Amino acid sequence: MHAQRQVVDYSLQRRALLRDVYSGRTGTAEVCDASPYLLNAARFHGEATQRRCPICRRDNVRNVHYIFGDELKTSAGQARSLRELSLIASGYREFEVYAVEVCRGCGWNHLVFRFLLGKAHATGDPQASSRPNQLEEV
Ligand SMILES: [Zn+2]
Repeated sequence: MHAQRQVVDYSLQRRALLRDVYSGRTGTAEVCDASPYLLNAARFHGEATQRRCPICRRDNVRNVHYIFGDELKTSAGQARSLRELSLIASGYREFEVYAVEVCRGCGWNHLVFRFLLGKAHATGDPQASSRPNQLEEV
C-alpha cells in the first residue's frame, strides 16, 4: 500500500468556480474547455467516479492522474491509471500526482487533488492514505 501524502485538496477552488458558473459570472464555455488530449486521457486512463458532472449533470466525471517529477524522466507529464500509479510508486522514490476530473460529455475539467507518491512515502498503513476518489458531491 502506497500512501498518498501531502494531499492538496482543490475542492474549495472548484466550488468557488462553480458558484461563478451557476451565477452566470463565468460562462460554461470557459470551464468546459478540455483539450482533445485531456478527453483522450480521460477515456483511456481515467478512473470512473460516482460524481455527476457539475455542469451538464448527464455524465459522471472521470479522474485523470498526471504524474510529475525529475525521477520519472520521459514519463513525466503522462496520464496514468490508478493501478499503474501503484506500480510506479514502488519503483520511484517520490513523484507528484495531479488528479483532474473530466467530463467527457461537456468538457468540464478541474484539478481536484495533488499529492505525493513513491517509496519515500510507503508506510504500509492503509489508514494513513487519504481517499481522493471519495470526494463529496457538491
Ligand atoms: Zn459534463
